[in-house]
Amino acid sequence: MLQTVAKTFFHALAGSRTLKSLASRYGMRGNGGFARRFIAGETVEEAIAAARVIERDGLAVTLDLLGESVATAAEADTATRAYLAVIDAVAASGVGRNISLKLTQLGLTVDRATCVDNLRRILDAATAHAFFVRIDMENSPYTAVTLGVFETMWQQEYRNAGVVLQSCLPRSEQDATRMNELGARVRLVKGAYKEPRAIAYQSKADVDAAFVRIMRALLADGTYPAIATHDPNMIDATRAFARERGIDPARFEFQMLYGIRRDLQASLRREGYGVRVYVPFGREWFPYFMRRLGERPANVGFVLRAILSER
Ligand SMILES: Cc1cc2nc3c(=O)[nH]c(=O)nc-3n(C[C@H](O)[C@H](O)[C@H](O)COP(=O)(O)OP(=O)(O)OC[C@H]3O[C@@H](n4cnc5c(N)ncnc54)[C@H](O)[C@@H]3O)c2cc1C
Repeated sequence: MLQTVAKTFFHALAGSRTLKSLASRYGMRGNGGFARRFIAGETVEEAIAAARVIERDGLAVTLDLLGESVATAAEADTATRAYLAVIDAVAASGVGRNISLKLTQLGLTVDRATCVDNLRRILDAATAHAFFVRIDMENSPYTAVTLGVFETMWQQEYRNAGVVLQSCLPRSEQDATRMNELGARVRLVKGAYKEPRAIAYQSKADVDAAFVRIMRALLADGTYPAIATHDPNMIDATRAFARERGIDPARFEFQMLYGIRRDLQASLRREGYGVRVYVPFGREWFPYFMRRLGERPANVGFVLRAILSER
C-alpha cells in the first residue's frame, strides 16, 4: 500500500518542471551532488569512468543514455545521433559493449516508422562494433508496440538486441513464452511504473509470485535471461531453481541498478554468478531519479542528508 502511494506521489512529482529545473541545477553539481548515488554523470566520459570501476570488481555493465518521450522527429534524430556517439566512445574506451535504450527516446510517440528507422541505425552501428542493445520497457501504453518493434527487427535478422518484461503485467507470462520461442534474450523486472488495476497486479505478493513463475520459464527455456532485481527473495528463488534443475550459472545473469545494493552485487559475484550493473548517465536524469525515489522512500532521507551536507 505504502509502496503504491509512494510510486504515485513520485511519478506526479516527476512531472513538475519547477522541481526538475531546481534538481537539475544542483543534483549533479560537483562530486557530492545528491543524484550521483544513482546517476553515473552527465557525460559519456563519466559513465565510462564509472564502468571501469565496476568492471575492475569483476562486474559487467550496460550503459544507458537517459532520455524518454521526445516530442518531435528532430529530437528523436538528436537522441539517435547521441547514441551513435556513445557506441563510438564505448568501443574506443574498451569497456563492455552493452547499451540500454528506450523507444520513446527514438521517436515512438512521434510515429512508429521514425522509431524503427532510428533503432535500425543504432542496431547497424551496434552490429558493426559487436554491441548488445537492450530495449528497456516503458509504461503500459508502450508494451505491445515495443515488443512489436522488437519482433520486426528480429524478423529482419537483427539478433544483437533483447527486450524487458515486467512481472507486474499478467501478459508478460505469454510474452515470455513468445520470446523463448524466438530465442530472444529477456531481462525480467518487476516494473517501475504505476499501472492501472485493469491490466496490472497491484500487490507485491502477486508481482513477486509472477516474477518467480517467469524467472523459471526463462531459466528453463530461454536464452541467456537477465534476472534484474535487488530483492533477496527473488534472487534466492533464482539460485534455488537453477540448483534444482542443474542450470549452469553461465546460462543467465543477475542485473542491478547503479548505486543500489552494491553489497549484494559484490556477494553474488563472489559466489560465481554473472552480475551486470545498469549504468545510467546523461543530462535527462530527473524522471529516472524520481522513479528510484518512488521505489524506496528511504532514499529520500539519503538525498536530504546529501543536500544538507552540501555547502
Ligand atoms: C538492471 C535493471 C533494469 C531495469 N529496467 C527496467 C525497465 O526496462 N523497465 C521497468 O519498468 N523497470 C526496470 N527496472 C526497475 C524494476 O522494474 C524495479 O522497479 C526495480 O528494480 C525495483 O524492484 P526490485 O526488483 O528491486 O524489488 P523491490 O521489491 O522493489 O525491492 C526489493 C529490495 O530492493 C532494494 N531496492 C529496490 N529498489 C531500490 C531503490 N530504488 N533504492 C534502494 N534500494 C532499492 C530494497 O532493499 C528493497 O527492499 C530495472 C531494474 C534493474 C535492476
